[in-house]
Amino acid sequence: MGDATTAMEFDLIELIRQRTAQPRDDVRLGIGDDAAVLAVPAGQELAVAIDTLVDGVHFPRGTAPADIGWKALAVNLSDLAAMGASPAWALLSLTLPQADSAFVEGFVEGFVQLAQPHRLALVGGDTTRGPLTVSIAVHGFVPPGQALTRQGARVGDVVLVTGTLGDAAAGLHVLQQPARHDDGSSLREFLVGRLNRPTARVAAGIALREQAHACIDVSDGLLADLGHICTASGVGAEIDAALLPRSSALLGLYDNTTALQFALSGGDDYELCFCVPASRLAQVQADLSRLGGGATRIGRIVAGAGVRVRGRDGTWLESGSSGWEHFA
Ligand code: ADP
Ligand code: MG
Repeated sequence: MGDATTAMEFDLIELIRQRTAQPRDDVRLGIGDDAAVLAVPAGQELAVAIDTLVDGVHFPRGTAPADIGWKALAVNLSDLAAMGASPAWALLSLTLPQADSAFVEGFVEGFVQLAQPHRLALVGGDTTRGPLTVSIAVHGFVPPGQALTRQGARVGDVVLVTGTLGDAAAGLHVLQQPARHDDGSSLREFLVGRLNRPTARVAAGIALREQAHACIDVSDGLLADLGHICTASGVGAEIDAALLPRSSALLGLYDNTTALQFALSGGDDYELCFCVPASRLAQVQADLSRLGGGATRIGRIVAGAGVRVRGRDGTWLESGSSGWEHFA
């Protein structure tokens, strides 16, 4: 558009550049020129993804800037994790109602807390005026042909999920309740933390290369996302409700039916859901528990289409929910 970058925007970009400094040999030229120049390591494939967070749509209005910075990166790292890719670079497009350096400082603090342990370098971006919106594009490496995809699940595979399910949806529910001062506040904090600061399962994704037949990250709810694996792979899945991993915070604050609803259909957990041949189950579970977080077997891949959920009494549950709907 030829919009001149204002002095205020230039200051913000300089602040971002300084705070996010992350030396990497493969960044030939980072923030400051018209484009970044990057060297993809020989013999690696590039996995790229972009996700946008809009104020009041993808995070509640009033979310702390540091939490927005963390989450905007985490949802993208989660996409790389689901591909088995190793994160390297990011681009950040920030749209702000006004040139607000306090917001940017907080945002960058949360961003860096997650970027640093992954040695992810911010190599460029764009800064514009408008309703608060954050887009991050990430780039990662994967050995040729080893990217995990949604295709490839086979009848007889076991279905696993990392971490616990339903926490983020419960965290959102907690935030929408009037303030409470009784006990259980540490449980509520845990759930809100799972909403605001999801863990991207990057190490798990890398460990699943050449192990998993199919993989996806759970952003829209287990039923919806496992449904995507089923569609892409041309198979069906059967899930046991009793096997779904749920945190003690979720079970401590919600009755079993509500907790199950959150675990099946709640979004924003950013756990990995993946399929492995039954013969590899024990090894994969051992590998992932060594990395922390672990993985739980929740069901299996069957012939057919769609996801069915078996209740504790063995009967099939009505799973009409189509998953997460963004709140307005
Ligand atoms: P141009 O007009 O050439 O696109 P900009 O003024 O938009 O240049 O950006 C100047 C430099 O700052 C570029 O290297 C760009 O990648 C970087 N940059 C701009 N905004 C951001 C941001 N939010 N995060 C990281 N880098 C940014
Ligand atoms: Mg620009």
